Amino acid sequence: MKRYFLHTFGCQMNVSDSLRMGEVLAALSYAPTQSCEDADLIILNSCAIREKAEEKLISALGRYRLVKMSRQALIGVGGCVAQQEKERLLRRAPFVDFVFGPDAIGKLPEILRRVEADRIRVVETAFVDSEQYVFARADPQTSRGKVTEFVTVMKGCDNVCSFCVVPHTRGREVSRPHREVLAEVADLASVGVREVTLIGQNVNSYRGGISFAQLLLRVAQVPDIERVRFTTSHPHDLSDELIDAFKEEAKIAPHFHLPVQSGSDRVLERMRRDYTVAEYLERLAALRQARPGIAVTTDIIVGFPGETEEDFQRTLALTRSARFDNQFSFIFSARPKTAAGLREKEWGAIPREVKVERLERLQKAQRQISGEIMAEQVGEVLEVLVEGSSKFNPAKRFGRTAENRSVNFDGGAPAGALARVAIERSSPNALAGVELS
Ligand code: SF4
Repeated sequence: MKRYFLHTFGCQMNVSDSLRMGEVLAALSYAPTQSCEDADLIILNSCAIREKAEEKLISALGRYRLVKMSRQALIGVGGCVAQQEKERLLRRAPFVDFVFGPDAIGKLPEILRRVEADRIRVVETAFVDSEQYVFARADPQTSRGKVTEFVTVMKGCDNVCSFCVVPHTRGREVSRPHREVLAEVADLASVGVREVTLIGQNVNSYRGGISFAQLLLRVAQVPDIERVRFTTSHPHDLSDELIDAFKEEAKIAPHFHLPVQSGSDRVLERMRRDYTVAEYLERLAALRQARPGIAVTTDIIVGFPGETEEDFQRTLALTRSARFDNQFSFIFSARPKTAAGLREKEWGAIPREVKVERLERLQKAQRQISGEIMAEQVGEVLEVLVEGSSKFNPAKRFGRTAENRSVNFDGGAPAGALARVAIERSSPNALAGVELS
């Protein structure tokens, strides 16, 4: 039996795509290996969202090249950098055997046949038209033993945010028919999965035969599913119907990741985000009214071209007034073919040291807020969905609250159980406590 080694970069979409790649390879009698030195086939599932992610890919490729030299392993690059760079990647890394985009995962058998039998290097990066696109159905056996799993509900994005490479790497939006989604969730529940996260680049513009809110309500009805989550959303698609779903169905987990990107209307306009800060805050207030205590996380880009200190101060002020539970903040990184990448100089590139200094200030402010919110949990008894043993201390158990807060605790509840945990300590990233019998 041949062995494959898969290195996944980036977001949950890539994690899910890598699982599908593993299933395709299993059908070709490939077995996974945790060590690249044992592999006959090495696949890197790449991410193009930031320049740094691309640099990581190139440096990893350099390491895998040595394995190729020692045991003639094949090397393939999939994911968003593959889609973006196409043949250029073969020129940049002459030891790479094949390059394939996210739409070509199902073509892996044919690609490998061509590479092995015809001894040619292959590039397969065509987008599949919306009408013809078929979502790979997850093999539930891949998820046996897991408590929580991702389910793809759509791919691509029809928005044109000026900083974002996704429309170029993942193509137009295609929604997966809701019956397929529900069947996959039922399959996952039958092998022990208790929590599903519906994923897509822009899930709340879902159009798979029913609205996204209706999809969430139906997924919550699947027997043995305890919690439903989703990511990622665009504020301008956050409908009243979706907000009402949080009122109606307790199994829709009280956590909303709602990327704001900036606290300045001027910057938001250049980002082509289609909402103002006031509109964003109005949606947030409606959400918090519908489900008091809901955790809200966000994404923020610092140092967008033309961002002044005053613009940045508005982002800081928004962080403080919105009191996000957490945020994923990054410095702006110009991406190829994007409007912000092309117009960076015209709008005013921000010096790297200014970007870094702003990011540090923002993250410091967020750490303080996260710390305060987590400290408020001390003394509470929280329901935790147990995922297994703690990564840091195998003697302890690990799970998450409905708000997606990590909890390490003393106790014996098995994976998949809902444990009641008395919270004793907190940090900005995690809670610690003891299970109540
Ligand atoms: Fe990119 Fe998200 Fe904007 Fe779509 S909505 S273009 S995925 S940032």
